[in-house]
Amino acid sequence: MLFTHRKRLGKMMPKTNKINRAELLKDRNTQAFLSKFLGGEISELEPVYDPKWGYRYPIVEKIIGDHSNVEDFLNTLCEAGILEIRLYDKVIYCPKCGSTNISVRYCCPYCKSFNIQKSSLIEHVKCGYMDVEENFQKGKKLICPKCNEELRKLDVDYRRAGIWCTCKNCSKSFDIPITTHFCRECHVNSTFEDAVIKEVYAYSLREEAREEAAVGWVIIASIMKFLQENGFHVESPAFLKGKSDANHMFDMAAYTGDMTRKVTVIDLASSTENAVPEQPVIALFAKIFDVSPDSAYLIAIPKMSENGKKMAELYNINIVEAKNEKEAVEALKDKLLKQK
Ligand SMILES: [Zn+2]
Ligand SMILES: [Zn+2]
Ligand SMILES: [Zn+2]
Repeated sequence: MLFTHRKRLGKMMPKTNKINRAELLKDRNTQAFLSKFLGGEISELEPVYDPKWGYRYPIVEKIIGDHSNVEDFLNTLCEAGILEIRLYDKVIYCPKCGSTNISVRYCCPYCKSFNIQKSSLIEHVKCGYMDVEENFQKGKKLICPKCNEELRKLDVDYRRAGIWCTCKNCSKSFDIPITTHFCRECHVNSTFEDAVIKEVYAYSLREEAREEAAVGWVIIASIMKFLQENGFHVESPAFLKGKSDANHMFDMAAYTGDMTRKVTVIDLASSTENAVPEQPVIALFAKIFDVSPDSAYLIAIPKMSENGKKMAELYNINIVEAKNEKEAVEALKDKLLKQK
């Protein structure tokens, strides 16, 4: 049981953005969250408005189980280049109590009262008379108070000339009201100057990260689970030392057997176009040439190019073609369990 015919190394890679991303992609919460995008459940994570708590992301809360860490969780994924943001809304907070239960009030610039009347200004084209709409209204008709003619057609007989406000408190008139915020919780009025405004984002999976996430998550997670259930010891990613003393990273390594451990290395390659080209086959061959595992698999998503297949046969690499994780597990089942 103690006998291992290969030295294995821990994680000794430098911490670059890509490694951070790779680490993050292995995190169970990240995986569970990204699967929503990869599985097509959501294409963009939009916040949901809750009148008491403001904007929330229920999908994320459910996964990480703590709504206070949602922001950190999403920020980390953005910094690693996995998610991108879109400005969704801006939330106004009460500067006194912090509530988002705010109403916007349009007020008189003279006395600050919000008891103002908003009206449309109408101009009778023929006589040039201009007044607020209410003064033209006679029943259902619009009649000019100056010349008593009926106004029938908009932009022919008459035109709308803007907005006119009248304060019901001080009776002054003005065209642009001032905006204030009324807190429905603590009843404090605040102005734009003291308002606390926070941006709220919608999140989507970056195209560059989608491919990595798909490879890094759904398939690896499913295969790992399958192998573990079948008694394999699995590492992902796995760092194996070769004859040359160089370390090689594989997406997965599965160990089996007691006295003489057998090792199977597994790499994944995916293509957004049709077939995976031969490069991943060559890369895997270079590694197994040095490491000499008992068997090597390359999982090609969705399929392997003809050239790649020929090369794999020559190099003794097993190719598994799969469109998704179910197909990958199904295809591995027979081959891998046989060698156990
Ligand atoms: Zn308040
Ligand atoms: Zn006023
Ligand atoms: Zn008129």
